[in-house]
Amino acid sequence: MLEFGWQNQIISINLDNEKHKIFGIEEETAHNYLGGRGLGVKLLCERISKNINPLSSKNYIIFATGPITATSVYTSGRFSAVSKSPLTGTIADANSGGIWGVSFKKCGYDSLMLTGAAKSPIYMYIDDNDVKIEDAQKLWGLNTHETTNKLLEIYGNRAKILCIGPAGENLVKFASIMNDKNRALGRGGLGAVMGSKKIKAIVVKGNKEVKIADKDKLDFFLNETKKWLDAITITGRSLPTFGTAVLVNIINEFGLFPIRNFQEGYSDLADKVSGESIKENILVRKTGCYKCPIACGRLTEVDGKTGKGPEYETVWALGPELGIFDLKKITKANYRCNELGIDTISTGVTIGCAMELKEKGFFNEAPSFGEVDKLGSLIEDITYRNGIGNELAEGSKILAESKSHPEFAMQVKGLELPAYDPRGAQGQGLAYATSNRGGCHLRAYIIGPELLGVPTLFDRFQTYNKPDLVIRTQNINAMLDSIIICKFTAFAISEDFYSRLLTAVTGIKFSSEDLMTIGERIWNLERLFNIREGFSKKDDILPKRFLTEPLKKGGSKGKVVKLDEMLSEYYTARGWDQDGTPLKTTLEKLGLKELTVNV
Ligand code: SF4
Repeated sequence: MLEFGWQNQIISINLDNEKHKIFGIEEETAHNYLGGRGLGVKLLCERISKNINPLSSKNYIIFATGPITATSVYTSGRFSAVSKSPLTGTIADANSGGIWGVSFKKCGYDSLMLTGAAKSPIYMYIDDNDVKIEDAQKLWGLNTHETTNKLLEIYGNRAKILCIGPAGENLVKFASIMNDKNRALGRGGLGAVMGSKKIKAIVVKGNKEVKIADKDKLDFFLNETKKWLDAITITGRSLPTFGTAVLVNIINEFGLFPIRNFQEGYSDLADKVSGESIKENILVRKTGCYKCPIACGRLTEVDGKTGKGPEYETVWALGPELGIFDLKKITKANYRCNELGIDTISTGVTIGCAMELKEKGFFNEAPSFGEVDKLGSLIEDITYRNGIGNELAEGSKILAESKSHPEFAMQVKGLELPAYDPRGAQGQGLAYATSNRGGCHLRAYIIGPELLGVPTLFDRFQTYNKPDLVIRTQNINAMLDSIIICKFTAFAISEDFYSRLLTAVTGIKFSSEDLMTIGERIWNLERLFNIREGFSKKDDILPKRFLTEPLKKGGSKGKVVKLDEMLSEYYTARGWDQDGTPLKTTLEKLGLKELTVNV
């Protein structure tokens, strides 16, 4: 019986017939997958069949909180969404902060599973006693801020709103889901999955507190956590003072700050878009998610309009990636992406791909690098699938393939890469290539050990020992995404500390080894899903540029990624064969079985 931490209720709704059922979480599932990403992956793998179209009614989208969500644990407001991605065809999860996940869990549920598709637009309302499906015809077409405002008028300010914008409605392959107006489940196009099911929004209003097993012990650990978070420079000073864009000058100095679709790794102009410049020119105040003492968020103001961000990845993707260094115009583009419900990283990198295709003479209709005045209208065109925007709305991989030049798409498994050129950090290259959801820095944040020296500094240009480092970091991040807690806390606290926090909340004894095994189990289950969908070693690859074109200037000059030196060792250390398939012994150790073809 799961008495503490979990609410021990999952709600499943089939939109084909609007029927819902509620059931508990099996104890074994809770012990082995926790919640968030892990629980969502487990539930998805049990339910969807091979090769379904991610935008068909057969797909699921599963929202899941974790055992510490909505407790007093720092940064415990996070929740995940898991689905089959329309952008990549892989399993995908995204997680978000803000407050929506807290209110959802306080309705008395750990997870919400949605399948089927409504015939016309709907939204859902969930509280402690009720689950309702309402007509959303009048909301369809509104942007995420307008939608949120309308629903708050109906349900009052205590209601928390998650919704899609026009990009999700128009099935843009990298549409995001927005919650609390400006927090994003950004990556993998999960907004399009909601759009395909005609779900405009989910309103939650919960009051049921989460029970804690040992409150005194938890208070003690929280006290210690706060001391660590305050004492470490990154969490105690850098992120609170400058936000995540504090990384701009650091990454640029190391020479892996991608410029003009990853053609260069350094720019003299980078400081114009740095966290320091944001603080000096547009910052109103810092903001934070639920129970977060770090508060890396930025409330900014440009030309009389206030909004959230830009974060590091966004200021880069809508800026230097496109040869643009105008902070105010980048910030306005970021505000608009949030309103339209579109992932800023994939938007920027897909536009960057179009710009390079134009530069090389393969896409005359596209804008050129640095053409900042065309940025706003192109974002609208992608969202509404107008003109060339319709081509870009499919993502960089399909765009570049359609022009017969796939080498200009900076993606892995179809997901556009974030703001770290892997030629400047070998482990990051391996982490991108092997990521289960495609080109992502958050599956394994190798920048910590390779650049920032956290927890220990590794030589960023060496391949030696990187497979072990990447595996360990991938497993840790799968576990953090399932507890579910903000990854930035990992700069200050260790697995051992997480295991004590989790034990105090749930009353179940977790060791740090247990948590690492949980992370490994989740990673392998995701891999099994992808293998069933046809992914293999051939997809654990980087764009050719990173393997054959050395960077020309900056702190990583002359470097390429030596993926071949690391991949085989990575498979062996994972307990996989040389095609990247988990061995039977590995699956047995983790209590997993090969996924059957059809469920
Ligand atoms: S550190 Fe930033 S992203 Fe993490 S919980 Fe705090 S405000 Fe949210």
